[in-house]
This record gives sequence, structure tokens and C-alpha cells, in this order.
Amino acid sequence: MLARRKVVAGIASLLAAPACVRLPVPTDFDAIIIGAGVAGLSAAHALTTKGRRILVLEARSRIGGRAWTDANSLGAPFDQGAHWLHNAEHNSFTQLAKDRGLALKVADISDRRLYCAGKALSDENATSHMNKATSDLERRMFIPSILPGSRSLASFLSGDEWHDAMIAIAAFSLGAQPDNISFDDFLSLEDGEERTVSGGYGALVAAVFGSVPVRLNHRVTLIDWHHGNRISVSGDWGSATARHVIITIPPTVLASGAIRFSPDLPQAKTEALNGFTIGQFLKIGFLLEGMGGRLAEYHADICTLASGNLEMLVADQFDPVLTLIASGDLASELARQDMAGRRAYAVERITQILGKSMADRLGPSTSYDWAADPLSRGSFSAVRPGAGNARRKFAQPLQGRVHFAGDAAPGPFATTVYGAHLSGLRAARQTERELAR
Ligand SMILES: Cc1cc2nc3c(=O)[nH]c(=O)nc-3n(C[C@H](O)[C@H](O)[C@H](O)COP(=O)(O)OP(=O)(O)OC[C@H]3O[C@@H](n4cnc5c(N)ncnc54)[C@H](O)[C@@H]3O)c2cc1C
Repeated sequence: MLARRKVVAGIASLLAAPACVRLPVPTDFDAIIIGAGVAGLSAAHALTTKGRRILVLEARSRIGGRAWTDANSLGAPFDQGAHWLHNAEHNSFTQLAKDRGLALKVADISDRRLYCAGKALSDENATSHMNKATSDLERRMFIPSILPGSRSLASFLSGDEWHDAMIAIAAFSLGAQPDNISFDDFLSLEDGEERTVSGGYGALVAAVFGSVPVRLNHRVTLIDWHHGNRISVSGDWGSATARHVIITIPPTVLASGAIRFSPDLPQAKTEALNGFTIGQFLKIGFLLEGMGGRLAEYHADICTLASGNLEMLVADQFDPVLTLIASGDLASELARQDMAGRRAYAVERITQILGKSMADRLGPSTSYDWAADPLSRGSFSAVRPGAGNARRKFAQPLQGRVHFAGDAAPGPFATTVYGAHLSGLRAARQTERELAR
């Protein structure tokens, strides 16, 4: 539903205990992988299969990073992070879910309700407006004239409510306002079928990679990459060395200086890191109580979106959970409020859109601020206007032995779990090639 490359017309038990290994003996490895999100776990799994001696260091007390199903807060599984299996036709996690007997549902683009100022729009009317706005925009977007290289998505705002709402939906999916998103980067991203999985996407990731040995609560604070053919990685837990290092922590975290490099990172790498903006999604999830009719999966107020307020309501297709998702500036504004303030905002918007009777059905709520989390500093790796090649520069290895992977790496599926998975596999292949020389 969340349009990425094209502006389209629609808009836990499974948690396997991660293999937490204790003291690092021996301390020298073929490769050290920093971060046990999807990218790090994918790289670790691939290198283990090749028989390589690896060490995976994760600062959190769990694996999965931004793919995290919270099994406790609502009494039903709730994806605080990734929820949709984007590009499900290609996405490896589709088959991995099927292998585990998990149910998948295709996100149906027609399963949506659109509103303007809280009033429901007729589906027929809305669809024809959206189709027209979409084809107008696609035509304009492919004219390579407007400020090449530094265009933002906002270059395509026109004052037309439907056009601007379609741009807002595109920006929504990257977690930033249209003027803070590189149009060229947006254009490089691929759309496709989206699915959701029963039990949650984070729980699926944790189950798939539950057997990868990870040292949890091992935060890395220093990478010394100037010694001969060994790189040294350390933190308050001690230190270890390896021939290769795969760094999978988000660029916004690296840019914050959370890890010190000795020698410093080259200027090109620092510039690449600074090319990313904090793409921010803030979800406010509610357990739905009592009886009520089935809710359509997506609810969006076109007029609110066109005015730059990036928000949407999403009804879970497996569990009685309704989520208000705020993105960009609205997410940052809500993040500054405490949980009571966030809940009050969400209750007001939900009752405006779905009717006052919904107030009685809204049970316990939860929300997680990924931008305030020092281990993620945001939700998505969105690229700033003028920094269109940040992904390529980010992923460039240093001296062929310090590799970078994660959802920030280039490719049509960047910013997603699937993109992070592919980048982890790519970094593992590069490492394996070098090790095998
Ligand atoms: C609210 C939200 C909604 C999203 N929705 C979707 C969606 O529907 N579909 C989708 O495909 N994607 C979605 N995403 C994006 C998706 O979650 C990410 O693209 C993907 O999980 C990134 O994986 P990664 O391995 O690159 O990074 P991460 O998951 O961030 O993994 C990096 C790991 O490094 C660890 N780390 C950080 N610093 C250190 C350190 N100094 N030492 C050791 N470890 C460290 C972190 O704790 C983390 O575990 C969403 C994200 C958020 C936050």
C-alpha cells in the first residue's frame, strides 16, 4: 500500500530465543559482524554456511533491530518496526513464512477508505481522481528537467489537492516531508506486492535467524582498522580481531559518532553518512476491544495528507489491532509528547475518521520512538535532496575489508527488510571472495 517508486493509486510467540553466546574465545575471527538486525543476521548466516569463523556483536538484548514484534504491550503481536513484506513476489521472507506454515495476506489496494476533513469520499470518485493525479505526476516525474541532482519530492507539489496527496503518500512511506527526500533516490526504489504475516514480521525474522550465534549486550564503540591485516573491534566487553568487518548499523547512528574509527573514516564516507536523513515513522497501536464490523485495512484523509500532515490508519488483518501511523514532521511532533499525549491525539483522529463509537473499542495502546533510540536514530534510511549517490558511497568497502550493509545500501529494495537482507548477503559474498583469495 505504501507507494515507493511510483505514486500509485492506493495508497509471539514465534520469537525463538536467540543463541546468545558468552565470552569471546577465541578472539580472532574471519569476520566480525556489527549489528544483529536483518542485514547482520543475513550476512552471519551466509558466512557460517561457508564454514567461516564469525563473531556477531549486538548492543541490544534481542536480535532483529528495527524488525521487532512486541508480544507484550497489547496482548496481541504488534510490529513496533517493520510490518509489511514489501515486494512480496521477490522477497525471500515470503517463502520463509510459508516454510513455517505461517499465514500471509496480500495487502489489497482496494481495501481502503478515503476521507476529506473526516468525511468519507465515494470510492468511485476517489479512484478516478487518484488515477488521474497519478498519471499526471508520473508524466511530470519522467521529464528530466527540474534541477537534476538536487530535486526533492516537493518539486512536484502543485497546489492540486490530489497531486499533493499522492506526493504526501510517497513521502509518508519514507518517513520524511517531501522537501527532505531526494527525488532521484525515490525514483530508484521499486514498488511491488505487499503482504502481512500472521504473528508479525519481526517474529518471523527472529524465528528465521534464531540459530545464528549472537553476542547480545555487546555494544561496539571503537573500530581500529589501520593494523596490518587484522581489524580490531572493541567495547566495554573487551575486544576481538578479524580479517574483515561488516558494519550493519544505520548511517544516522554512524554519523552520530557512536562508534569511533581509528583512523577516522575518509571524507567521502562521512559525506555519504551525512546524506541520510532520519526517516521517522511513529506508530500508535491500539488493541480493539468488543464487537464491531470488519475494518478496511487502510484509512487515509486526502485533505490532511495534501496539507503535509503525514498520517494513516491501518487495521491489522490478523489481530484486533488498529494503528495510527504518523510520519515525517507529525511523527517528530508526537514523539515529543508522552504516551498520554500520543494516545489522546490518536483517539481524536480515529474518532474523527471512523466515528465516535470507535472510542469505546480502543483498549490498551503502545508506541515506540525509533528516532530517540540511540541504536537506530530513525525508522528508514531516507536520502536528502542533493545526496542522490549517498547509498552507493555508503556501501563502498574500505580497503576491501571494512564492509557496510543495511537498509541504507543501494538497490531497488533499499529502506526495507528485504533490501537489508540482500545487502547483508552482498557483504557476505564480498567478504567470502576476499577470504578465499
Ligand atoms: C516503525 C518502522 C516501520 C517499518 N516498516 C517497514 C515495513 O513495513 N516493511 C519493511 O520492509 N521495512 C520497514 N521498516 C524498515 C525496516 O525495519 C528496516 O529497513 C530493516 O529492519 C533494517 O535492517 P538493518 O539490519 O539494516 O538495520 P537494523 O535493524 O537497525 O539493525 C542494526 C542493528 O545494529 C545494532 N547496533 C546499533 N549500534 C550498535 C553498536 N554500536 N554496537 C553493536 N550493535 C549496534 C542495533 O541494535 C540493531 O540491532 C520499518 C522500520 C520502522 C522503524
